[in-house]
Amino acid sequence: MRIEILNTGTELLLGHTLNTHGAWLGQELFQLGLRAARQTTVPDGPAIRAALTEILPRADALIVTGGLGPTSDDLTREITAELLGLDLLTDPAALHSLEAFFAIRKRPMAEANLKQALCPAGAEILPNPNGTAPGLYLPPGLDPRFPCAIFLLPGPPREMRPMYHAEVAPRLTTLAGLSAPPNCLTLKFTGIGESDFHDGIDTRLAAIPDLEFGYCAHIGEVDLRLIGSDPAIAAARALVMKRFASMLVSDDGSSLEETVVRLLTIRGMTLATAESCTGGLIANRLTDVPGASAVFTHGFITYANEAKIGLLGVPPEMLIEHGAVSEPIARAMAEGALAAAGTDLAVAVTGIAGPTGGTPEKPVGTAWLALAACNHPTQAWRLFQPRNRHDFKLGISQSALDAVRRHLS
Ligand code: AMP
Ligand code: MG
Repeated sequence: MRIEILNTGTELLLGHTLNTHGAWLGQELFQLGLRAARQTTVPDGPAIRAALTEILPRADALIVTGGLGPTSDDLTREITAELLGLDLLTDPAALHSLEAFFAIRKRPMAEANLKQALCPAGAEILPNPNGTAPGLYLPPGLDPRFPCAIFLLPGPPREMRPMYHAEVAPRLTTLAGLSAPPNCLTLKFTGIGESDFHDGIDTRLAAIPDLEFGYCAHIGEVDLRLIGSDPAIAAARALVMKRFASMLVSDDGSSLEETVVRLLTIRGMTLATAESCTGGLIANRLTDVPGASAVFTHGFITYANEAKIGLLGVPPEMLIEHGAVSEPIARAMAEGALAAAGTDLAVAVTGIAGPTGGTPEKPVGTAWLALAACNHPTQAWRLFQPRNRHDFKLGISQSALDAVRRHLS
């Protein structure tokens, strides 16, 4: 079944609004066992007609988002009806729920909202419990030239997503005659590059029958996507784990920080962070995870030397002798955080994000990472990640969280 997505809205092309519908619908369709064959984004206005003219003859189903609002630039409904030669008629039930929407809120309904109750002849209204714009379903064959099922959905994500689940997914499942969703396994790895996978296992994965696989690289992380029969996925998993088991973050989509919080919880251990160059990003990532409060107690952001001295007890003469970005300082920060917080573990980072501040001995991108643990010798690692500031911070936070993960594993 060929399914296409058409996202409408000038703001999407100006970059004022990120087109999250494309990605979201792609994932949702895939979970049903379907795939978007193509996504198109067009501005409001006549470009919608041109896109429909192209897509309708070749697609079995089309999901259109946006342009169902009350304003003059919201023309998706009108353009679709006109192109298919369908009259627009006021739907009494849609008008009633529109009036009820405003009555409940004790607000008068503007005249402009009336057009949101218009329905092309032969189409079905898709109720919108979260807003004023109902969706529309035009079953295949309303216009014999286009044997394509058409869904028109509102633009706001909090309206579009529930409508997709309630109205679109069940109709697509029926249209496609689907029974079971596809088998898919995503293995997340860290501390390894995409190319390492390629050199290590790519040809052997390709030799497994019935297996489709792909990589998705992020900063400090590679996701390996396996799609296929149960035996094919099991064979692929065994092959990959033989080589890279120690680098596995999760096999259920969990992020590195979720894995760290889960491992800390299982072990009944607590963690503190002492961050210089990451400015609190490690603590931020940990506290994104529900339940982090049980295992994460203190996050020290010690950006200046005085903060490292005052909050973590780093000796001033050590800073003078070695500089803030050095192995002794990373160790002293981790041990100072462990003592100050009274946790089981403390992780510390100090580095040079750039673009200035590098030297020949310590170029931009250099960082030191240390992990202190009760009853264990403190460990330290030199990192080198010459990137822009944002990606540097993300990469260093990834290394720090991974050091904790490896310790707990
Ligand atoms: P519309 O119904 O087209 O006027 O869209 C209403 C609002 O929904 C827009 O102002 C955007 O904020 C949001 N929106 C529309 N399309 C998208 C999209 N593809 N991804 C994310 N948000 C969107
Ligand atoms: Mg709009």
